[in-house]
Formats: sequence, structure tokens, C-alpha cells
Amino acid sequence: MNVNKELCMLCQTCAAVCPTQNIEVTEADIIISECNDCGICARACPLGALYE
Ligand code: SF4
Ligand code: SF4
Repeated sequence: MNVNKELCMLCQTCAAVCPTQNIEVTEADIIISECNDCGICARACPLGALYE
């Protein structure tokens, strides 16, 4: 999964729904590590900032 950092507002919604805790959101950045592209985070993002 990839993130459009111009759209992301670091709200942490995606990190909360990832079933394997692959998303780390800090005050300054979002880091997505290995993931299986299940798409749950992309559907949960209120800003449409996540894409495959
Ligand atoms: S696609 Fe699925 S596994 Fe990958 S970061 Fe999003 S919720 Fe987590
Ligand atoms: S849910 Fe969307 S806006 Fe919120 S931290 Fe994740 S990618 Fe950024």
C-alpha cells in the first residue's frame, strides 16, 4: 500500500484498522511497512490518501 503524503493528514485511522499493524503514524510522518494489500486501510482513510 502507498500513501499520498500531500493528502494524508496523519489522522491515524488507517493505523487503527490495519489487522497486522503495518502502519506507523507519528506527528510528522506515516510509514507503511510490508503488507498484503488487503485494502482495509484504503477503504477507511477519510481523505483517500492510500492507494495500491
Ligand atoms: S493494505 Fe491491509 S495489511 Fe496493508 S497496511 Fe493496509 S490494512 Fe494493513
Ligand atoms: S487514514 Fe488516511 S489521512 Fe489518516 S493517517 Fe491514514 S493515510 Fe493519512
